[in-house]
Amino acid sequence: MSRIALNHLALVWGGLLAVSLSSLLVTPSRAEEKIEVVTTLTVLSDLVQSVGGDSVHVVTLADPSQDPHFVQPRPTLMKRSREADLFVEVGLQLELWAQKVIDGAGNPGILLGQSGRVISSKGVPTVQKPEVLSRAAGDIHPYGNPHIWLDPVRVRKMAENIKDGLDRVNPKEVKRNEEKLNALLDKLDTALYGEKLIKALGSRKLNRLARQEKLFPYLERKELIQDLGGWLALFLPLRGKKIVTYHKTWDYLAARFGFEIALTLEEKPGIPPSARHRDRVIQTMKDSGIKTILMATYYDRKVADAVAREVGAEVITASLVPLEGQDYFMFLESILHLLKESVE
Ligand SMILES: [Zn+2]
Repeated sequence: MSRIALNHLALVWGGLLAVSLSSLLVTPSRAEEKIEVVTTLTVLSDLVQSVGGDSVHVVTLADPSQDPHFVQPRPTLMKRSREADLFVEVGLQLELWAQKVIDGAGNPGILLGQSGRVISSKGVPTVQKPEVLSRAAGDIHPYGNPHIWLDPVRVRKMAENIKDGLDRVNPKEVKRNEEKLNALLDKLDTALYGEKLIKALGSRKLNRLARQEKLFPYLERKELIQDLGGWLALFLPLRGKKIVTYHKTWDYLAARFGFEIALTLEEKPGIPPSARHRDRVIQTMKDSGIKTILMATYYDRKVADAVAREVGAEVITASLVPLEGQDYFMFLESILHLLKESVE
């Protein structure tokens, strides 16, 4: 080989080496670095997406049309959880099936107590805790009402728990996660209270009063009701209204927006209505002039429709979690609009 050819070969090799080195050293794109998050429900996925932004890739296990209490822990769900960096659930035994999914996933990082597991209800106060902790009677709410995400104040703590989980598995994004969490919390405050009231009292005080269920008495005492904005102003017509629901699903929403769930069609959470209980519901609705039965879309409407016919009421159905294309805000607002139209 001539000297020139040898030199040429060296150049080619050098070039190849440079190319392969640069491909090794080049920082991977964001898409490749994304944290894999698996959640049980779309409402959690939306919160994860809000806090994690483009640093996360989120998969939801339950379809929005499914009853979150009863999802089949199929092998496909286990497979989806196998590579997860973070697994997010509500907890409070809402998704009993989630543990079965995790048991079959073979992913030690998301086992209970590991950094990749988020119980988003941690530290969130609940209501309706049964005196005897048992599912034996068929009660599917053994740790109190688990439908906490239907309260825009309780959701704040859920988002904070999710942020802590994201921080644990992706410490380099701690600062960005915090910024995004704060933006979400600000958006929640504005949506709920409106800017004028936030300016007058500050969101910290407003949220404290709301958590203590003292917000409305306080605003009335200080004559600040006229400063209310956001959802609390928009859905003022709901206050004091009575409705019936199928399951103990909407109690946190009711407490937040001041309407009352007089009775549920289910005798106990998870127990279908007996004839005797159904008669009691009919009597209560007649006595109190209740015109609305609210139920989740996945329940059989038969009993509700029969009761509604008997008392001249309306059955309205709503999704329990955001549907495709809905964020938390659109989701919650759509339920409140439905209710407002029905009770007005
Ligand atoms: Zn339930």
